[in-house]
Amino acid sequence: MSLIADLRKALGDAAVLEGEAMGARPASDMSLTGTALPRALLRPRSTADLAAALRLCNAAGVPVIAQGGMTGLAGGANPSGNEIAISLERMRGIEEVDTASATMVVKAGTPLEECQRAAAEAGLFLALDLGSRGSCTIGGNLSTNAGGIRVIRYGMAREQVLGLEAVLADGTIVSSMNRMLKNNAGYDLKHLFIGSEGTLGVITRAVLRLHPPPGEITTTLCAVESYEQVVALLRRAQAALGGIVAFEAMWRDYFSFNAEALQLRFFEAEHAFCVIVESTMAQDAIEEFLGACLEDGLITDALVAASHAQSRQVWSVREGHPTESLPNLLNFDVSLPIGQIGHYAEACTSALKARWPDAHVSFYGHVGDSNVHICVSALYGPGEDMHSVDDIVYGVLGPYHGSISAEHGIGTLKRPYLHLSRSPAELALMRTLKQALDPRGILNPGKVI
Ligand SMILES: Cc1cc2nc3c(=O)[nH]c(=O)nc-3n(C[C@H](O)[C@H](O)[C@H](O)COP(=O)(O)OP(=O)(O)OC[C@H]3O[C@@H](n4cnc5c(N)ncnc54)[C@H](O)[C@@H]3O)c2cc1C
Repeated sequence: MSLIADLRKALGDAAVLEGEAMGARPASDMSLTGTALPRALLRPRSTADLAAALRLCNAAGVPVIAQGGMTGLAGGANPSGNEIAISLERMRGIEEVDTASATMVVKAGTPLEECQRAAAEAGLFLALDLGSRGSCTIGGNLSTNAGGIRVIRYGMAREQVLGLEAVLADGTIVSSMNRMLKNNAGYDLKHLFIGSEGTLGVITRAVLRLHPPPGEITTTLCAVESYEQVVALLRRAQAALGGIVAFEAMWRDYFSFNAEALQLRFFEAEHAFCVIVESTMAQDAIEEFLGACLEDGLITDALVAASHAQSRQVWSVREGHPTESLPNLLNFDVSLPIGQIGHYAEACTSALKARWPDAHVSFYGHVGDSNVHICVSALYGPGEDMHSVDDIVYGVLGPYHGSISAEHGIGTLKRPYLHLSRSPAELALMRTLKQALDPRGILNPGKVI
């Protein structure tokens, strides 16, 4: 194939892998739904190399997929077998930390955790944080507009970006490396690439906004008996504890299943909800707050993590979901108005159990951000598959006017359902943008729209 020969000539042999040399990694993200390897795997070292590659692929009309850490949960980085994958793994590193401006300039293939560490070493704080921090990359985080555990205080990935550089389908480099908090000079082009899952351009570098370190974070685990009380606890904690930096609710089935699998026990009794609240207030103020909540019956038990290790144990229950014992496990990521999440969880559980009485159905998530995740594991009957579950989860969501994707993106897995969360006019405008930026449709085809 002459395109591969041209790519080898432009990027060098070491930057173009084929066949077994690619390994299994480019076949699937963490949704584990990808089955095919790409035609070839490119590993450019620079924006110029990446632009040259895109120019050649565009001219040949061959589709490409950007691949970051492959931790996505929506199948967005999965090939169908026909594409050339572009891994950003060699475009890695922190170019600069500017303490005066509180910004950092990073290459898109840099793992999130490396950026967090560099910010901390400079006495600053990168507010983006997710469970996949060790493997996910800044390019992937921005192209999915990742959320994570600090959204309640600092906003999503989009809010942490001041500027970025991206390469368009035809190889044009758009350098929009703004470093100022204010810049209203025309359209803010970075937002075209943030959250568009590699369908409008490939992100190569970014200017990230940093914050003062939040101070000592105390982790508490609260036992709560109703969803209404979870919401009341959220509002009371926000008012009494100043900036809370995390608020994560776990419904009983989720908490019990994971705690048991991890052989951890935090409370004597089982509770309808266990809620992680993190705050930077002084410990005695937190204890006073918890005492008042206990007295008022808002919570029935509470634990203040006594060490970083205990805090990690609490979070391990929130983050871990052992999959071996859960056949056909599916993870959903929906958002809806905070006050209605409890009701939705009940309606969704009833609908799923009516179809699969023995199904595992459990809920957890960033409730303070109006985002809940759903784990469903069911043994399908003849003629059923994962879409039978999708139909129920999204069908029940409809009347709540929620979103089928709060933070993981659309990828391939949710594409058939995008119309449930976007109007015909919104979908038409998305297609117009796609056509304008990628007229030959080579960037991540079959994803999002
Ligand atoms: C344990 C675990 C916990 C997680 N927790 C969260 C969470 O709390 N919040 C959350 O939002 N997500 C979470 N995720 C999902 C995932 O980590 C995020 O979606 C993450 O942002 C993906 O980054 P990545 O580098 O792995 O991207 P990939 O999986 O490689 O790619 C994701 C998408 O981005 C595109 N892409 C990748 N790099 C680029 C680039 N440079 N330019 C353009 N497009 C690109 C791909 O084509 C694909 O469409 C979690 C995943 C795991 C496994």
